[in-house]
Amino acid sequence: MDWLLGKTLEELTALATQQGWPSYVGRQMADWLYRKKAGTIDAMTNLPKTVRATLSRQFEVGGFAPATVQQSTDDTKKYLFPTRAGHFIETVMIPDAERATLCVSSQAGCRMGCRFCMTARQGFQGNLSTGEILAQFHRVAESDRLTNAVYMGMGEPMDNLEEVLTSLHILTAPWGWAWSPRRITVSTIGITPAIRRFLNESDCHLAISLHNPFDAERRDLMPLQKTWPIADIVRQLRTCDFSGQRRVSFEYILFAGLNDSGRHVNELARLLHGMECRINLIRFHPIPGSPLRSPNNEQTILFRNRLAQKGLLTTIRASRGQDIMAACGLLSTESSNTNVKRKA
Ligand code: SF4
Repeated sequence: MDWLLGKTLEELTALATQQGWPSYVGRQMADWLYRKKAGTIDAMTNLPKTVRATLSRQFEVGGFAPATVQQSTDDTKKYLFPTRAGHFIETVMIPDAERATLCVSSQAGCRMGCRFCMTARQGFQGNLSTGEILAQFHRVAESDRLTNAVYMGMGEPMDNLEEVLTSLHILTAPWGWAWSPRRITVSTIGITPAIRRFLNESDCHLAISLHNPFDAERRDLMPLQKTWPIADIVRQLRTCDFSGQRRVSFEYILFAGLNDSGRHVNELARLLHGMECRINLIRFHPIPGSPLRSPNNEQTILFRNRLAQKGLLTTIRASRGQDIMAACGLLSTESSNTNVKRKA
């Protein structure tokens, strides 16, 4: 059965008029889906019974209950959701004082093959539909208190751009979730044409996973560097205006002995010189069977200070939910190989 979740106002209105119903029924459906977060078509009580009955024959609201939920000692929660195709994705809710940020997945598995990533080991299993992306917002227990979202979960959002852009459209439309685009950050390892389209069609923040400023070294970590070198991405970003409210940031996972030297500081300073941007340093959580390690605290602070001395605005991202976050992607990999049940 088709899902209503993920349909835009235009699609819902077209659906209503095709059935011979007044076009305002489309807006009523959008209101029930995105503002009131109705769990069933039957709960859409201002739609006539005949309309609900006709809708129910072809559609359901959509979304699955989580298969498992893990809670960290710091209250970060990791949800494992099934997809319609029977794969599993992870969604993380990170509470922080007044904020509750949802880290959402855009694909099941990923084809990008980054060496440091557990999700890469699953290979590509499929793109999430707009409905499956939005279902993560709807089906977490904290749905009504979410304040921010980051597209940093499983998958490469720019490799599923159409569905990601439609989800952003629904999250920010006045008839949808009505969020400011400044509450949403989309993270990418860098697919240049997709970044260009994203910047033209959305006002959300952009985060680029940089991880190494040197071509050969970055290729070794992230094969996509061969096709879309980071220098070209930065060159493209320099033509965009980030002086207003829209932000670009660079994510940098620190690997001991690999990308944490003075040489890397100097090259980062050269690459990003004069840009309106921020660098977020991220501690690496080891993944099974990988020799990659995180530098210790002192080395991490030293790296941050060296970048700051070069005039680069740099922060060390707080590690949240460490007890449940180790090897992000591990939970879904294990679930794909075992018999975790799907709940409607
Ligand atoms: S880091 Fe992101 S882009 Fe790279 S393999 Fe993992 S999920 Fe894919």
